[in-house]
Amino acid sequence: MIQRDVDLTGANTLGMPSRAERFVAADSIAALRDALRQAAEQGWPLSMLGGGSNLVLRPYLPGLTLQPTFADWRLEDVGQGKVRVHVGAGMNWHGLVEELAAFELWGTENLALIPGNVGAAPIQNIGAYGVELADVLEQVHLLHLDDWREEILGRDDCAFGYRDSIFKHALDGRVVITQLVLRVSKRARPRLDYGDLATRLCNTPTASEVVAAVSAVRREKLPDPTRLGNAGSFFKNPVTSAEQAQALLASHPDLPHFPLADGRVKLAAGWLIDQCGLKGLRDGHVGIHERQALVLVHYGGGSAEELLALAQRVVDEVERRFGVVLEREPRLMGQPA
Ligand SMILES: Cc1cc2nc3c(=O)[nH]c(=O)nc-3n(C[C@H](O)[C@H](O)[C@H](O)COP(=O)(O)OP(=O)(O)OC[C@H]3O[C@@H](n4cnc5c(N)ncnc54)[C@H](O)[C@@H]3O)c2cc1C
Repeated sequence: MIQRDVDLTGANTLGMPSRAERFVAADSIAALRDALRQAAEQGWPLSMLGGGSNLVLRPYLPGLTLQPTFADWRLEDVGQGKVRVHVGAGMNWHGLVEELAAFELWGTENLALIPGNVGAAPIQNIGAYGVELADVLEQVHLLHLDDWREEILGRDDCAFGYRDSIFKHALDGRVVITQLVLRVSKRARPRLDYGDLATRLCNTPTASEVVAAVSAVRREKLPDPTRLGNAGSFFKNPVTSAEQAQALLASHPDLPHFPLADGRVKLAAGWLIDQCGLKGLRDGHVGIHERQALVLVHYGGGSAEELLALAQRVVDEVERRFGVVLEREPRLMGQPA
């Protein structure tokens, strides 16, 4: 059922005050199609909402805001130790990771505790602890918003990159993701070569033990959005040419950097921000987390515009000091009231 004038303040992890002109929680594909049909008839613009953990919401979302909530999932044994996971867009991502680990199915455990829903996971190709969604994804099922056509994209059709995919480019705002098909493994293959995961676990951990260890590290490092509004990393780690990285390393030898397969170099955005002396800065109702320079926080009572102004200040300072332009990670949605 389509509701009118719905408060979304509690539906985004930054806790930004925002209202949807109309809102529907679609609990089936049929409900989703029905809402799309009504929106087309009435000429309402559409916005898509998942768990609201990678968004900066402005005060007003005109038209219809759609949130897929169908969360059914099933396993399909495809032989040779591989299992397909068919899962609806509305399932909580971490809930899925825990379920798979409980079945001792491997592949997603390093992506534990990433907030949000399954349907949004391909948008920025969620990644953590050396693993990305693309490593386990087989298919994305979607509905086109203009003609309600269903389509299935294979992993290679999704143009996945670091925090990037076709859903941020050619298909941006044009589709609703309804289902993912993942491929996981019955064979234990822990990936513990990232951070201090290995020191927290024995040599042959269960998948659930890896999930618990990743979750513990994340809880220590990242502010809990239920206590302090945030959207995780606010900036992507910038990727520079090898020449630019070399020049920066000559003047800043301790700059954390990660060479990529294509010859370019990824730099640590948090380190760059920290070097500008911005960590812990508070500006009115918003600020930069005291332990994580990459995380912008909302103390309450603020607005998207305040947060964006602070983000711009960070971008400007980092560019002035290092000549590197940071790019925002969360997506901006809505308009001023
Ligand atoms: C504390 C914290 C830690 C985080 N850590 C990580 C991390 O380690 N790695 C990482 O990659 N990300 C991280 N994130 C970011 C975030 O959790 C992910 O990007 C997540 O996938 C967002 O899911 P969501 O359901 O909340 O999406 P939302 O924020 O609701 O939406 C994000 C975008 O996806 C679109 N969208 C949502 N659902 C659909 C759909 N079904 N079809 C089409 N479009 C849709 C929205 O319109 C929007 O553009 C973190 C966030 C927080 C708050």
